[in-house]
Amino acid sequence: MTARVLVVDDILSNVKLLEAKLSAEYFEVVTAFNGLEALEKVEESEPDIILLDVMMPGMDGFEVCRRIKQNPKTAHVPVVMVTALDQPSDRVAGLEAGADDFLTKPVDDAALFARVRSLVRLKMMTDELRMRETTGQNMGLVDPAETLIEAAPGGRILVIEDRPESVAWFNSALAPANEVSAVDMFEEAVVRVRGGDFDLIIVSLGLRGFDGLRLCSQLRSLPEGRNVPILVVVSDGDRRKLTQALEMGVNDYLTRPVDRNELTARVRTQLRKKRYADRLRHNVQLSLEMAITDQLTGLHNRRYMSRHLDTLIGNARRSGKPISFLIMDIDHFKSVNDTHGHDIGDEVLREFAGRISANVRGIDLACRYGGEEFVVVMPDTDVTFASTIAERLRASVEATPFKISRAPNNLCITISIGIASSECGDDSADALLHRADQALYRAKREGRNRVIADAA
Ligand code: GH3
Ligand code: MG
Ligand code: MG
Repeated sequence: MTARVLVVDDILSNVKLLEAKLSAEYFEVVTAFNGLEALEKVEESEPDIILLDVMMPGMDGFEVCRRIKQNPKTAHVPVVMVTALDQPSDRVAGLEAGADDFLTKPVDDAALFARVRSLVRLKMMTDELRMRETTGQNMGLVDPAETLIEAAPGGRILVIEDRPESVAWFNSALAPANEVSAVDMFEEAVVRVRGGDFDLIIVSLGLRGFDGLRLCSQLRSLPEGRNVPILVVVSDGDRRKLTQALEMGVNDYLTRPVDRNELTARVRTQLRKKRYADRLRHNVQLSLEMAITDQLTGLHNRRYMSRHLDTLIGNARRSGKPISFLIMDIDHFKSVNDTHGHDIGDEVLREFAGRISANVRGIDLACRYGGEEFVVVMPDTDVTFASTIAERLRASVEATPFKISRAPNNLCITISIGIASSECGDDSADALLHRADQALYRAKREGRNRVIADAA
């Protein structure tokens, strides 16, 4: 793994030392010698991780960290405080400022690389999501304000621990701000994570009954556990277990004896990050849906239909089953707009889309093809059945005038439908659409409000 590391320290020899160690492991190193320079370099060189000295003249490391975490452009970059201070209260101050981890001076090589690699790996996962979300924002699909990180209220926490006194201690430290459950058996933990909607899992690595690391690895492989942060608790000095845990992708750790304030601060940090990642995932999902959905009617859009058609035609060809296309167009729709206004025209389109959805099956693909034209692709459907569906839809539109919220009277609407079918899927999508369009044209020419099938 290679990554860009920003090293910030006011003492030249400290910077040089870290730079030498990191370069030897093929990390790319960027340096800064004071807080302000650090803030500039973070924006300019987009590091994957920042090693930040705490004691610096002028702006100290806590303040630099706070500013990095408050800036939406840099908040996602992990910050490791490098400090000679080693009291839990110092760590809590750093966590409150938004720090992700700590290293004590003089910096030990194994600890340095374990933390850098683990934090960079975690960052890469959110980077992918951030990139996709940015695409959604650029396309105007997602509001950027929606991804800003907010203060995290409590979450649902699962504690895996088999010492009753320890469970009681976690409960007293974390409840009532959080909803805490505890389990002490391997299988039960797996079942709970599978079924539960947890925001954080705390795993003791000093369990008497089973190996906590093995459990972590199992939880990471579950679809329901993959995105839940894991915080492990290790005995002070058990560096081998800690390194293994970090390599496995656990998100953070605490050493025994656990300081209560440090626990709550680390829990808060993990909950905040989880919420951020959930929000990113949600926005990415949303922009995917929006990219394939017509915004006015909620049906699929033309782009989606074009992409999906080849699959549907391919399936028909392979299975030798028929496939039918319906093209529908509202009659004299221009006069609806001209008489009642464009907004009411829009409402007619929405109502019509609703009626289409109500009349087709789940396997049919309904989409807004453009303007007031709609297409339904019906797999496994011959021309006779497609004509029956089309006629039912046409008749229901004619028989039940459209209720429009802002118009005094219901509107009488009629539609024309053209159908093309392929009995064993041996036509191309373009050819079928063309034939359906020709049939629609005939329906219009022959007086509208009718269904014409081209059953070539
Ligand atoms: P025909 O019976 O031959 O189909 O006549 P028509 O008036 O329905 O067809 P024409 O193609 O002449 O007009 C379609 C109209 O649909 C013109 C256009 O302004 C309107 N239109 C297209 N998209 C929208 C939309 O999203 N909302 C509204 N309100 N009108 C739209
Ligand atoms: Mg029309
Ligand atoms: Mg038209």
